[in-house]
Amino acid sequence: MGSVQVSEHPLVKHKLSLLRDIRTEPKKFREMVREISILLAYEATRDLRLTQDSVTTPMGECRAWSLAEKIGLVPVLRAGLGMVNGIWEMMPSAEVWHIGLQRDEHTLEPVQYYSNLPVAPTVQVCLVLDPMLATGGSAVATVDILKRWGAGRVKFLGIIAAPEGIGRLSQAHPDIDIHLAAIDQGLNDMGYIVPGLGDAGHRMFGTG
Ligand code: URA
Repeated sequence: MGSVQVSEHPLVKHKLSLLRDIRTEPKKFREMVREISILLAYEATRDLRLTQDSVTTPMGECRAWSLAEKIGLVPVLRAGLGMVNGIWEMMPSAEVWHIGLQRDEHTLEPVQYYSNLPVAPTVQVCLVLDPMLATGGSAVATVDILKRWGAGRVKFLGIIAAPEGIGRLSQAHPDIDIHLAAIDQGLNDMGYIVPGLGDAGHRMFGTG
């Protein structure tokens, strides 16, 4: 059974407040997304499996460990891109697979317009990266794609979530862990998280 974990780390709370602030410029915004993502990934990867080995230090033999599972970082375009680089520096052997979804004008449901996943799965653990878990439509569709692909374990890393998005994602995929920096009040009638931080893609890429 998956869990919903909201970071209580003071650094996350501090950086999230800077991220929300309307006065925060895109450069600082990108830095905060990057740093919060590293802190969330640190918490989300506590249960990765290890294999035991040994290493020779200048003083002798010592027990050593290496990651036993291959990790895939899966940013949901486009705001998820801002979460990749910091996490990737912490786990440089991770593979990065991009998934692009857009909303169908008629059904309002997400439709995949881009995926570069190979035929057979190449990773055991996928970290889906999307800073805003709003309605949950894109998150559910992304996890659907990864499960159909054959990904063994999937975790969702987001910065701010609405209760509606958490509900939809955990109902569709009760097995996945959801890691967040905050859960906000809810969605407005445009589908934005309130109080949230506005449009994460616009604020990140300076396009708003
Ligand atoms: N996507 C955003 O960028 N912001 C929201 O509030 C909701 C979805």
